[in-house]
Amino acid sequence: MNIIVCIKQVPDTADVKIDFEKGTLIREGVKSIMNPFDTYAVEEALRVRERLNDGSKVIVLSMGPPQAEAVIKEAIAMGADDGILLSDRAFAGADTLATSYSLAMGIRKIGDFGLIFAGRQAIDGDTGQTGPELAQWLNIPQVTYVRKIEEITSEKAVVQRMTSYGFDRIEVKLPAVLTVVKDINQPRLPSFRGVMKAKRFKVKVWTADYVGADRRFIGLDGSPTRVKKMFAPPQKHRGGVKWSGDPVELAEKLAKELQKHGLIR
Ligand SMILES: Cc1cc2nc3c(=O)[nH]c(=O)nc-3n(C[C@H](O)[C@H](O)[C@H](O)COP(=O)(O)OP(=O)(O)OC[C@H]3O[C@@H](n4cnc5c(N)ncnc54)[C@H](O)[C@@H]3O)c2cc1C
Repeated sequence: MNIIVCIKQVPDTADVKIDFEKGTLIREGVKSIMNPFDTYAVEEALRVRERLNDGSKVIVLSMGPPQAEAVIKEAIAMGADDGILLSDRAFAGADTLATSYSLAMGIRKIGDFGLIFAGRQAIDGDTGQTGPELAQWLNIPQVTYVRKIEEITSEKAVVQRMTSYGFDRIEVKLPAVLTVVKDINQPRLPSFRGVMKAKRFKVKVWTADYVGADRRFIGLDGSPTRVKKMFAPPQKHRGGVKWSGDPVELAEKLAKELQKHGLIR
């Protein structure tokens, strides 16, 4: 089966620059990298391929401008078997729904998909919507926040899903979408052989027509959301209040204050 990993190229900075007029990210002059969560997704896909050892292939898929070929080559250097870039002016301006539809069409075109990996979220867009929407478009199950794959066969997976209280253990039939968190593994560094393979590797570039995408669901026109306004949230005063004095009196004062705000009875 094909193990497909969705990888996104993102700016290499937490200090994302915004064009407030256009409501878009300024990408010029900013170094780009593979979305950090996606490196964990690639690593896990490689480990699943090794565990299955049945001829399964790891294929990475990205949607973006031509320069996104760089992240595909990075995944090839790590050990992925193949890499595809969905790139077409018709895809531009996509929101998460149009992005996930386009990726789903790419995945259908690849075919024979058993596991589809995505990161928990992208560090620029930050919505965490693409993976779950992808599962919806493909009409297959999904598990988000996966922190461990306990069992894997070509039919099913048993995974741990991170929660605020620990984790859930979930059995899921394949094909399925899994979005992963950083606790899942430690991504490998590319080997020398991998780097040489990536240098020679010719990324396949697929257009909207090639994957049979319906124009009503792609790009800006296929995006039901619009960025109306972008702004940096005002910095909140975080200094807090400082009290000093007798500890017993202070404890009573604190209890009263908490009562006033309904935090204790
Ligand atoms: C109206 C509107 C217009 C926009 N126009 C543009 C634009 O012109 N150019 C632009 O770059 N962005 C644009 N965006 C942002 C774009 O929608 C998001 O970057 C994209 O949909 C993914 O959402 P996210 O970044 O929140 O990813 P998340 O949902 O947080 O990502 C989760 C995971 O999904 C996968 N994933 C996400 N995006 C991709 C991708 N492109 N390829 C492969 N895997 C992926 C990765 O595995 C990632 O870890 C626009 C958004 C809106 C709302």
